[in-house]
Amino acid sequence: MIRVEGLAKTYSETVAPVLAGVSFEVRPGEILWVSGPSGAGKSTLLNVLGLLTGANAGSYHIGDVDMLHAPQHVRRRARSELVSMVFQRGNLFDHLSALENVLVGMSHGGVPDALAQLEAVGMGSKAGQRAGLLSGGEQGRVAFARAAARKTPILLADEPVAGLDDGNATIVLDLLAGEARRGVAVVVVSHDDRVTTIGTCHLRLGKGVAA
Ligand code: ADP
Ligand code: MG
Repeated sequence: MIRVEGLAKTYSETVAPVLAGVSFEVRPGEILWVSGPSGAGKSTLLNVLGLLTGANAGSYHIGDVDMLHAPQHVRRRARSELVSMVFQRGNLFDHLSALENVLVGMSHGGVPDALAQLEAVGMGSKAGQRAGLLSGGEQGRVAFARAAARKTPILLADEPVAGLDDGNATIVLDLLAGEARRGVAVVVVSHDDRVTTIGTCHLRLGKGVAA
């Protein structure tokens, strides 16, 4: 589903490239764990995969289409239909309810679907609660629900367990693993070793892919 070859990205000519020739594949049902220290380019890689930014060299295929060289309208359509991103819990709209946060990301389906997704993460009873008033673990689950409700074949997660205790981290990791079991191609970016429990392959930025 996803095939990245020789991906390179430089923000400025005066500093070293952030990504220098990264290559990997993620098939439906697989979970790629991308690790590396702060500043290694993990979020940059995820933003390229999420079609939020471009790259300087290499290719990024979704299916047969090289998204790095595709016209804007193709990238825009892929962004809305093929890719979803679980942002860190701070990226919820604090003043909106959990339910409204899920609805914001959905391009089809309605309140019943959004509620079902919140039920699936154990947050059905708090659907009406303002996101800013939820605990960190609850916000993590709502952030997951917002991405999963979009039902895209690719799911990207940036540090989804950062700041979560073991119990809540396990819940979020189990949810990600559940998406993979449904056939979603999952990429989890994290410097947190707890992700090793669900990853089916591992990319340490700068050191290549290990099985
Ligand atoms: P990570 O997520 O692994 O911590 P990032 O991808 O956020 O790493 O950042 C990698 C490097 O790229 C850092 O040195 C960061 O300062 C730099 N960087 C990230 N985003 C930008 C940007 N928009 N403009 C310039 N430099 C950036
Ligand atoms: Mg980051």
